[in-house]
Amino acid sequence: MKIKYDSKFLSKINGISYCFGTKYENQNNEVFTLNQIHSNKVIVIKNHSQIKSNIDGDALITNVKKFNIGVKTADCVPILFADCDQKIVGAIHAGWRGTYNLIVLEVLDVIRKDFNISFNKIFFSIGPYIQKCCFEVGEEIWNSFRDKFHEYSKPFIRIKDKYFLDLGLLNYLILRRNGVINIDMVNSCTKCNPDYYSYRREKKSGLNQISNIKLN
Ligand SMILES: [Zn+2]
Repeated sequence: MKIKYDSKFLSKINGISYCFGTKYENQNNEVFTLNQIHSNKVIVIKNHSQIKSNIDGDALITNVKKFNIGVKTADCVPILFADCDQKIVGAIHAGWRGTYNLIVLEVLDVIRKDFNISFNKIFFSIGPYIQKCCFEVGEEIWNSFRDKFHEYSKPFIRIKDKYFLDLGLLNYLILRRNGVINIDMVNSCTKCNPDYYSYRREKKSGLNQISNIKLN
């Protein structure tokens, strides 16, 4: 069974195209991606001359039309966004390091400073990632997340001596708290669902789904 996640919010915006990847889609080279390094670094591309290979970073924002940007994931959280006036689109790779280092806030900062777009005009969509059923982490990592994000409780699950994180939900809550209203979120897990590549399931790197978005 093939499952493709359709975002309630992104689907409402005319003038953009997007797709959350599965094993079966977007395995071609027509999508521009960054050299992802599990950072909170945001790259802005405002014209064609800035398009180069091998740019390090984990979030990409562009206002260049017909420039298809994307994010590679295999358990980490892919987040796509666009504003309802079709000025910009963006793609974020939020793994546990990027989430811990608040990559979504770095993105909001750039949206405000570089593009002066109000957050209530931005639609965010959180795509397929390894969910709380499967994302077990060590006690130390779990504790440092819970300490840093003590205002939230739902992303942190403890079952006896096992510790789980819900990174998609945590990014959702951070966005909400910082003024983003329109966010939707997938509920399928990359590890449970064989239609997705999962780093934890395959136990090897290099197999990714690519989620992409562009201004038409
Ligand atoms: Zn799962």
